[in-house]
Amino acid sequence: MAAIPEKILIVGGGTSGWMAALHMQDAWGDKGANICLIESPTIGTVGVGEGTTPLLRNFFARLGIPESEWMPPCNATYKCGISFPDWTTVEGYETYFHPFFSNRDKEYAQIFRENCERRRDGYDIPLHPDHYFLTSALARQRRSPIARDKPTDEGLYGYHFDAALMGEFLKGKATQRGVTLIQDTITDVKIGEDGDISHVETQDNGAIDADLFVDCSGFRGLLIRQALNEQPNSTKAYMFNDSAVAIPTPTEGEGEILSETVSKAMRYGWVWHIPLSSRTGNGYVYSSDYASEEEVEAELREYLGEGADGVEALHLHWSPGRLEKHWKNNCVAIGLSQGFLEPLEALMINVIQTSIERFTDAYERGDFTDRYQEDFNRHVNGFIDGILDYLQLHYKLNTRDDTAYWRDNRDNVNMSERLTNVLNAWDRNENIDRVLAENIHQQLYPPLSWYCMLTGMGRFPEPKNGPLRLPTRQQQRVRILSDEHAQAFYPHAEYLDQLYAG
Ligand SMILES: Cc1cc2nc3c(=O)[nH]c(=O)nc-3n(C[C@H](O)[C@H](O)[C@H](O)COP(=O)(O)OP(=O)(O)OC[C@H]3O[C@@H](n4cnc5c(N)ncnc54)[C@H](O)[C@@H]3O)c2cc1C
Repeated sequence: MAAIPEKILIVGGGTSGWMAALHMQDAWGDKGANICLIESPTIGTVGVGEGTTPLLRNFFARLGIPESEWMPPCNATYKCGISFPDWTTVEGYETYFHPFFSNRDKEYAQIFRENCERRRDGYDIPLHPDHYFLTSALARQRRSPIARDKPTDEGLYGYHFDAALMGEFLKGKATQRGVTLIQDTITDVKIGEDGDISHVETQDNGAIDADLFVDCSGFRGLLIRQALNEQPNSTKAYMFNDSAVAIPTPTEGEGEILSETVSKAMRYGWVWHIPLSSRTGNGYVYSSDYASEEEVEAELREYLGEGADGVEALHLHWSPGRLEKHWKNNCVAIGLSQGFLEPLEALMINVIQTSIERFTDAYERGDFTDRYQEDFNRHVNGFIDGILDYLQLHYKLNTRDDTAYWRDNRDNVNMSERLTNVLNAWDRNENIDRVLAENIHQQLYPPLSWYCMLTGMGRFPEPKNGPLRLPTRQQQRVRILSDEHAQAFYPHAEYLDQLYAG
């Protein structure tokens, strides 16, 4: 018999709180768990977090909520991948696209890999990942990932959505499905003699007890950090960014919507553009060690132009890092309370989803010895550390010279042994798949993503052998075929119109 907590209190009504509530209600609601979520009417949510990876599809699929139901109320759009303009100055590699891969990529991915090997062998062949993958062509043509003839599962894709509207949608669904909502502010957290949280004190509802407490209170980590004294380890030595300024603008252009996130490098960091059906989300992520709020806001406003005039900026700061123990005593931290690295590649919702799913599975085993908590914590940490490596590589590979920020990132000697091994293996033309498998155990991204970043940012040895004609022709041919193939997919705006019209 699976172990089920009888009484669960989720603290926090941001994306993480409502995702946890829905998942737990789905997993345990029918088995007798009583799930309650408390959110403060005076402490807001973080208000950002609008890009996802393909994993979110599984979340909604498990809950039986189709895109036609959740996307329109969240002003959501499709995401085929992410483009990275201006991270390098290498000629021909000033931008590249990190695609979500589809089943139809298999054949061309193989050609891409073979050409990677040739280029790493020192052959002078043109090689850029943007030519090989279907979703790159879809994004170039502003198409949705939905094929006209076969409107399901053509491949992997993610989403963009309005974070505030998503919160409202999830809240509506969770309360409809039986989660109790309390709007109140927690004023104190009480710990029993065994070290467990016994109850929380609230402003208007007195004491609330539970068997399991889920800390979704955001950066403050009301339970896990403040009450249970679990402090995050800093990752700032690896990646310097600790701040962002967000300024939304009206949707650009008539009748077309991008189906990609754009992550463009700036003087002290990078800017995200997230196209929604109603507006574009923009934010400049930077390190406060290198630039002030005023400097980056001015640079962002200049870059965004008139669309940003009169729009208030939202400034955010965090201490990059992660907890060592995400599950401690009778409390599990989910969301920003677990820690946060930075928004590059939009991975936090992925961490949230993975942590919730892993936790419910672990809990059901019903063995609350330290070993089970340790297994869970080790898994979550491995996952986050794999993300750290992958994200840091973007900064290590940059070739910009305009500010100390970029030079310091490139020269940063603080790198995990894992990432050092991977980069060395690439540069020394060793078997990169093997080295990735040996070092990055809980990879979120397949080796192909690493190949795309390394080639897309132009990380190659100096050519020592003459050009090869076959790969050049192959690359041209694959590009033409991908572009033709993409035409079988709906233009993004057209498909959204259909979806939104019901
Ligand atoms: C600049 C930036 C960009 C990001 N971009 C992305 C992205 O593109 N993709 C992605 O996946 N993630 C992104 N993230 C992360 C994402 O925003 C968060 O993971 C997500 O919003 C979840 O936040 P949360 O629910 O943990 O916390 P919050 O949204 O901060 O919610 C905290 C909740 O706790 C409640 N609370 C706090 N104190 C109390 C109290 N005393 N009593 C009662 N309730 C309380 C609040 O009322 C609130 O409801 C980004 C983060 C930042 C900072």
